[in-house]
Amino acid sequence: MPELPEVETVRRGLKKLLPGREVQSVKTDWPKSLQGSKADVQQFLLGARIEAVHRRAKMLLIELSSDYTLVVHLKMTGQLVFQSDKERFGAGHPTDSLAHKLPDSSTRVEIAFTDGSRLFFNDQRKFGWIRLLPTPELEHLPLFQKLGPEPLDPSFSWQQLRAMLQRRPNASIKAALLDQTVISGIGNIYADEALWGAKIHPTMPIRSLSLVQIKRLHGELISILQLAISKGGSTDKNYVDAKGKKGSYLHFARVFRREGQSCPRCGNAIIKLRVSGRGTHVCPVCQKLKSPRAAKTEANQ
Ligand SMILES: [Zn+2]
Repeated sequence: MPELPEVETVRRGLKKLLPGREVQSVKTDWPKSLQGSKADVQQFLLGARIEAVHRRAKMLLIELSSDYTLVVHLKMTGQLVFQSDKERFGAGHPTDSLAHKLPDSSTRVEIAFTDGSRLFFNDQRKFGWIRLLPTPELEHLPLFQKLGPEPLDPSFSWQQLRAMLQRRPNASIKAALLDQTVISGIGNIYADEALWGAKIHPTMPIRSLSLVQIKRLHGELISILQLAISKGGSTDKNYVDAKGKKGSYLHFARVFRREGQSCPRCGNAIIKLRVSGRGTHVCPVCQKLKSPRAAKTEANQ
């Protein structure tokens, strides 16, 4: 599932390509993939010019001159591909559709611009969506209001992270990191990587974390996201960025999907656990549970 760095990679690619283009037509083969009344699409999407491309959490916001915004959530298998005579850019869930002729069987929405270029929203499993919403109303929608802070916002401090975590004192730290109301944009990969970096066991209850651990986690979250963005997001196959380069973060992963391999810090074997229903990668030596009591409490939850 695309996490913050992958969506940010999509945004950085599209913000160089979309602004200024005018929507001529839109096609969809699946009503849930493009949500908005026919009247709204007619009035606020067709003929509108793209003004800017933003990101909030794992959502992409394509702002239109009509004062409406296309909010895109890639979910499990969504990807966006821009194609003109001269350029092609695709990012999101890595499949061959990023590089192949479009539309194809995964194409759910096709937006054509007046200059002949097109934007494709491909989504094999159809969990993703695009919603046409009035821009001034976005910040008041529950979808946005409930979101926790953006970890890459310059104002995101360890104090803020601590305050957000303390809302769920009995949750495991991994569950809290995956909770989008606590912090935005973190998924399974970056939760595991940041916890390894901060030497915190994923099942550690929030109330048992020390101030030092929270400060360390804050630093690790930011650095791992920045590293992943600089590498073009994570993926294990066929990922193509603006310049046709493949994303490479998983090659740099220190614990994620590395069970059985040695920990880059201490050399012990990485193990895989299940935490909050998710496959979780841990170095059992570097990431110790603080006390047997904490472990017991967690097991009883
Ligand atoms: Zn280790």
